[in-house]
Amino acid sequence: MKIQENISLKAYNTFGIDVMASFFAEVESKEDILEALNFAKSKMKPILILGGGSNVLFTENLDALVLKVNILGIKEIKTNDKTVLIEAGSGVIWHELVLYSLDKGLSGIENLSLIPGTVGAAPMQNIGAYGVEIKAVFHSLEAIEISTGLIKTFLPSEVRFGYRESVFKTSLKGKYIICKVSFNLSKIHTPNISYGDIQTVLDQMGHTTATAQNISKAIISIRQSKLPDPKEIGNAGSFFKNPVIPASDFDNLKLKFPALPGYPNASQVKVPAAWLIENTGWKGKQIGEVGVHKKQPLVLVNYGNGKGEEILDLSHQIQMDVLSKFGISLEREVNVVNFENLINV
Ligand SMILES: Cc1cc2nc3c(=O)[nH]c(=O)nc-3n(C[C@H](O)[C@H](O)[C@H](O)COP(=O)(O)OP(=O)(O)OC[C@H]3O[C@@H](n4cnc5c(N)ncnc54)[C@H](O)[C@@H]3O)c2cc1C
Repeated sequence: MKIQENISLKAYNTFGIDVMASFFAEVESKEDILEALNFAKSKMKPILILGGGSNVLFTENLDALVLKVNILGIKEIKTNDKTVLIEAGSGVIWHELVLYSLDKGLSGIENLSLIPGTVGAAPMQNIGAYGVEIKAVFHSLEAIEISTGLIKTFLPSEVRFGYRESVFKTSLKGKYIICKVSFNLSKIHTPNISYGDIQTVLDQMGHTTATAQNISKAIISIRQSKLPDPKEIGNAGSFFKNPVIPASDFDNLKLKFPALPGYPNASQVKVPAAWLIENTGWKGKQIGEVGVHKKQPLVLVNYGNGKGEEILDLSHQIQMDVLSKFGISLEREVNVVNFENLINV
């Protein structure tokens, strides 16, 4: 394992924010991770764990060791009549796992096609799209405890998945490095096409059957038409979570804003953050080099040389406007990274 010094992180985050890390290492095995942790201890530097950098916002230079997790490999662990247990290294690109699954005729993650990032980061926020979250196929994961170097296996009940949440974002934040993740994929395909435009796009593409392959193609097409490609415009996907509010609050708001959309779930209602942002006038606005995307107001963008602080400031302005107009607090989905919230080893 090579430890490099004074590395720009611009190429390692999809916002394209240019900050410097004092030390940087690509770790390809558990042994590399332990060696890197020892190095950080000896230099008395905190660490940052990084996958594809598609859910982080860097707001300053990091006097730290950045560990880019690059543990690769996908393998079949066991199979029965209905399912196949697949294990993937945490550095595997998420969409490559989706393609592997489709290639083997398996299903369960086709609705999560084209989500950027790595397998290791996927359980962190229980990635989800088009009516599916990884918790539906998650079997277990193996992680290194940073303070002891010991390996622990986590079962679904211990990961405590929620909406863009897991124990790794709450009580165990900064405590573990995920090394591999296992998923139960299905040999029998049950299409999930009730969400959004999937059926319409399948029809437009001339696909008469909703196979996992066809659903994946439809979702790729929808995503490419709606979301900015980070290779062209820096972004980290949805900047905020969709707020979930009590049904009584929603009913009151609906009296004042009859067009307010909402998706009821028990005694609560999920409100699209994109609608709230658009209806406070932020859609398509640009401030210097940063802004709110023209088509998808939930996505904040870096048009070139924007700074992390500028995007964070913009996000605060949006939060204030949404709070003052609708009385709803928007919670951030993206992980803001500054020196204060790095992991001490
Ligand atoms: C265009 C675009 C579209 C997106 N669409 C979606 C979407 O539809 N649904 C969705 O859920 N998300 C979406 N995202 C967000 C992002 O793709 C996911 O959150 C993804 O899982 C992040 O993976 P990553 O490897 O890039 O993580 P990073 O950004 O590198 O890291 C994210 C967090 O996880 C931690 N972390 C990373 N790897 C590990 C590890 N091995 N062990 C422990 N901690 C780790 C990091 O420290 C950080 O806190 C989108 C992003 C973009 C840019």
